[in-house]
Amino acid sequence: MARLIIMGPPGVGKGTQAEYLARHFSIPAISTGDLFRGHVRNKTELGAEASGYMDHGEFVPDHVTTDMLRQRLEDNDADAGFLLDGYPRTVIQIGALDEMLAAKGRALGAVLALTAPDGELVARMLRRAKEQGRADDTESVIQRRLELYRDETQPVLTAYSHRGILVTIDGSGDRESITAAAIAAVEGALAA
Ligand code: AMP
Repeated sequence: MARLIIMGPPGVGKGTQAEYLARHFSIPAISTGDLFRGHVRNKTELGAEASGYMDHGEFVPDHVTTDMLRQRLEDNDADAGFLLDGYPRTVIQIGALDEMLAAKGRALGAVLALTAPDGELVARMLRRAKEQGRADDTESVIQRRLELYRDETQPVLTAYSHRGILVTIDGSGDRESITAAAIAAVEGALAA
């Protein structure tokens, strides 16, 4: 049973790789960004609260995000393990996830980080903006999201690295090779 996290800057292709990894490990990919976008689409109260932050590239407050994830992890499919995409993004969220897992007597297996140069990330997000019309894929919002990643999310990577469960791979290149490298890295970490 695998309990995994995929991390990396906006635009690195986390969502795509998460789908393939989740399929390989037979676990659900749980993306907090997708959960929020679902709420926005369905015009829920939570969606209304989150969209103001999302549209500006800001983080939705920790407690709001954590409550939403806690509920999602209660679904039966997460009993078999999960791949988190987009959470934790702050050091506070690391602690919240630790508590959620400890309450169920569970532990994290591995954290996979994808990397790519900033220039490539911006180009990919601008392309995605054209393809998918995401409101938060505009140039100024993209810069803000990259800045938040550096300031708030890099320390999350450092923390997992200190725990010895972080594996990092190059996220540039073709989709298939990245997926193969990601699977090998995660299996190596799980076996360690
Ligand atoms: P993503 O699809 O992962 O890029 O997430 C899209 C947006 O959802 C982010 O820019 C944030 O506004 C919000 N979001 C997703 N996950 C989190 C999180 N863990 N903490 C705070 N905000 C989040």
